[in-house]
Amino acid sequence: MIVYAVEPGGKYVTVAESVLLHPEGKRGVYVNLTNRCTCACTFCLRSLKNMAEEHSLWLKAEPSEEEVRGELSELPWEKVEEIVFCGFGEPTMRLDVLTALLRWLRAEHPKIKTRLNTNGLSDLYHGRDTAPDFDGLLDTVSISLNASNAERYLELTRSQFGIGSFEAMLNFAEHAKKYVPDVVLTVVDHVEDDGEIARCRAICEARGLRLRVRAYEAS
Ligand code: SF4
Repeated sequence: MIVYAVEPGGKYVTVAESVLLHPEGKRGVYVNLTNRCTCACTFCLRSLKNMAEEHSLWLKAEPSEEEVRGELSELPWEKVEEIVFCGFGEPTMRLDVLTALLRWLRAEHPKIKTRLNTNGLSDLYHGRDTAPDFDGLLDTVSISLNASNAERYLELTRSQFGIGSFEAMLNFAEHAKKYVPDVVLTVVDHVEDDGEIARCRAICEARGLRLRVRAYEAS
């Protein structure tokens, strides 16, 4: 699935199914741009190959900007609260498509909130400061902090960029504050213990960033 909704309990459904199940109220709608990622997190379902291939978010081919726009155009917009770029991979690996879609959303549906869930390593992947690309395009960016130090971060994420990844992710988060109103760092609740979560909270406080302890979802 390229565009989807998430049921309570974590089941992925089409937006039409979601509206049938819950005709009242609005929902988050998720966009799955890629299954590629610059990390290989130990807790990510992508690493369990058989499960990944059977997973409804496994893409046979990456969708073009036009394909995604086509699916978004069909949405029952009165039932949509927020568009989230997330999925089963790292959306910023397709930065041009991602920002083009965000610009389209701002132009066509300016009242709909927008969010990016990311590993925060786009500066390393693209070799430049990428936070300005999101200027005025996002309401929220949610970045996976994962750990309180570079060694533990690398152990968990197995980032292709090595030990410098942790600092690069934090720099991206700090730069993003200039361009995105709500910058949130996240840790996954069943991966880290209370002591590690407290250390993550201290890092966020020192840098003026908000921490959210979340249940697992890709990115
Ligand atoms: S959890 Fe997110 S950042 Fe980690 S490998 Fe999976 S998609 Fe990539």
